[in-house]
Amino acid sequence: MSYIVSVGMECHAELLTHSKMFCGCENAFGGEPNTRCCPVCLGLPGALPVFNKEAVKHVLRTSLALGCTISRRTIFHRKNYFYPDLPKGYQISQYGQTPIGIDGFLEIETPEGDLKRINITRVHLEEDTGKSLHSDGLGYSVVDYNRSSVPLMEIVTAFPPDIASGEEARQYAENLRLVLLYLGVSDGKMEQGSLRAEPNPSIRKEGSEAYGTKTELKNLNSFRAVQLGVEYEARRQQAELEAGKQVLQATYGWDAEKGVTVLQRLKEGEQEYRYFPEPDLIPIEFTEDEIAAALASLPELPLAKKRRLIADYGVSQGDALQLIQDQALANYFEAAATGAKDAKGVANWILGDVARLSNAANIVPYASKITPELLRGLVDAISAGTITGKIAKELIEEMFTTGKSVQTLIDEKGIKVVDASVVIDMVKRAIAANPDVVAKIKGGQEKAMGFLVGQVMKEAKGQARPDDVNRLLLDALAELP
Ligand SMILES: [Zn+2]
Repeated sequence: MSYIVSVGMECHAELLTHSKMFCGCENAFGGEPNTRCCPVCLGLPGALPVFNKEAVKHVLRTSLALGCTISRRTIFHRKNYFYPDLPKGYQISQYGQTPIGIDGFLEIETPEGDLKRINITRVHLEEDTGKSLHSDGLGYSVVDYNRSSVPLMEIVTAFPPDIASGEEARQYAENLRLVLLYLGVSDGKMEQGSLRAEPNPSIRKEGSEAYGTKTELKNLNSFRAVQLGVEYEARRQQAELEAGKQVLQATYGWDAEKGVTVLQRLKEGEQEYRYFPEPDLIPIEFTEDEIAAALASLPELPLAKKRRLIADYGVSQGDALQLIQDQALANYFEAAATGAKDAKGVANWILGDVARLSNAANIVPYASKITPELLRGLVDAISAGTITGKIAKELIEEMFTTGKSVQTLIDEKGIKVVDASVVIDMVKRAIAANPDVVAKIKGGQEKAMGFLVGQVMKEAKGQARPDDVNRLLLDALAELP
């Protein structure tokens, strides 16, 4: 009996704003506990919230990037529950039919290269909680309210779920992170918890219409954990069903060390949050102009960029995927590749030598002295046969430290590619000096050619074009009896 896996996803992203959601406290990660708090985010009686317009704008732009319909008028609600990290006794969130963004989607790429649409039901704005710190040594817990009321965006996929495997869940989370980074609304750091992905997988027998009971997964602090967690949970649910048991509605935590999910708590009925409209905040209203301006401010999204780099520049799948991981790196590539004779070569140099040199210097390639123009000059010089790839590898090291152009370096060093007419003589000498190697090649050991190529290159001091050497060697060998 085979099973179908379905995965819904709830993702929370802390928004990049200067201040918190409802007060003027600084929004930053870490630091000395309880140093960025005030009466509002500590929930002191009588303190009044005022919403952060920057955060609202971030959610509006994200909703538009995800193809959502925008609620023209939207309000905040109180979600009431008791927990030490929630000082007010309620979280200000958006509940019901009018979140900021409604019914959008995010695309992922299937292994075949097709686009698959993952439908999204809502994008809304709320506030983060404080952080409970459990110290084994103390025998009690402490709370840090620096994170209390940091602006938080929640993005929820639609039902029925479109995600059908752990891999798709990982891809969805990865692509969502890139979209948020491109929009500049979140830093997307899963390891610091500023992006949190919580999948809820369920399984059902093939042919069955009814969806199985879902479980919620938490503590997934990497993309790998998202995939492995969903895969593990689907196997665990299947084992339960095959043992004649039921899948219980519950929350499981991912134990990355052991690679297993661990039961955190069973859900006995839906928790009653007693949602009601937040009386201390005015509604958020968007005008046509605001929505149009936000729409106009959207950048090209990562997946579209990836497919365009492949289509327009002939970049390989793998290279394109690497380039789009950093919007600025992709822009650097495009600036260098535009007008270059060998755009694919530009990508190879960026991801190869430029990345290697930059990593060693602890900078990003686009912050190095190798400007897009300098890089294009280097790759064009190889295309034109002015320098060989081997020489280029030496020149790029100098270009990286000095910022000199390829032409300046060629002039300074007196580099001159050995002309084919001179290479012919070198080829003849290499053949005459190595009759045993020639005999091997003639006997069918074609690999022995490499030795002769090496001899010629050595005499040319690496300044002969590899194409010339190969072609002339083959011609000369063919002429031998
Ligand atoms: Zn505050």
